[in-house]
Amino acid sequence: MEKQGYLSEIFSSFQGEGGTVPGSCFGKKQIFLRFAGCNVANKEFGTSGCFFCDTPNSQDFKLKHYQYEKKPSSQDFTIANNPIKIQELIKIIKNLITNDLHSMSFTGGEPMCQLEFLLEIGISLKKNGINFPLYLETNATVLPNKVELAQIKELFNYCCCDIKDRSSQAAEFNLWEKLVRKELEFIRTMTSVNVLTFTKIIVTSHTKIKDIDWIAHELSNIRYQDGNHIGLAIQPVYLEQKELKKKFSISNEKLNQIFYRAAKYLPPENISLSIQAHKFLNLL
Ligand code: SF4
Repeated sequence: MEKQGYLSEIFSSFQGEGGTVPGSCFGKKQIFLRFAGCNVANKEFGTSGCFFCDTPNSQDFKLKHYQYEKKPSSQDFTIANNPIKIQELIKIIKNLITNDLHSMSFTGGEPMCQLEFLLEIGISLKKNGINFPLYLETNATVLPNKVELAQIKELFNYCCCDIKDRSSQAAEFNLWEKLVRKELEFIRTMTSVNVLTFTKIIVTSHTKIKDIDWIAHELSNIRYQDGNHIGLAIQPVYLEQKELKKKFSISNEKLNQIFYRAAKYLPPENISLSIQAHKFLNLL
């Protein structure tokens, strides 16, 4: 039977995150496949997800509809019913390819929660002669088994892995360390097969320097086969709601403290500021 799955959006835009760390596709034109459903938002670590989540409509695993852009970067959408079949998806993707397209981003929600579907899309893209690099953006909490990992290695060129700061509310207080250890294991797994991986952490005024110390130290022990470090993109939280902004926006001083502490363990070329550039430009 033809594989099908749950998406929330398919569109073309610029990758706005990742800064300048190795593996980042910041500023590149991508087609985004946004998957529906997020394990973190569905209480895997005891909470309803990150308080700053900018894709709350993509948290539901059984989302009824998805939307796709009619023309590349037009922000003009058609709504259709989930689940979507691979052949329908390939048709939509073909219509969004432009001559400046760099790569295809698999994001969410959490794409790893529909891993079979995710891999099937990767395989079908190649079969249909759509050979752009594939970029996986994940909360890094759903680990692949050995067979799945081998397929990811074959299909994916880049992987952006979240590390959730304690202040993200992605986990209950007593489950946060478990969550981060899982993410570190995921990152270790990806680098072990040489998928070009970097980590992204969203920081707030409530971020603790001792947590950054622990995370950066752990990351410094994860190396590629050639001994190179992986990158850490540090992203100040972006909030629109006035009250939340007041409470969680990070000061210049705190941001610098975070950088100094990260640089205690990681080379400066592997640390970068990341901003959600697309938000400042009113892009998707
Ligand atoms: S892990 Fe991602 S999709 Fe899930 S709640 Fe957090 S920000 Fe939202």
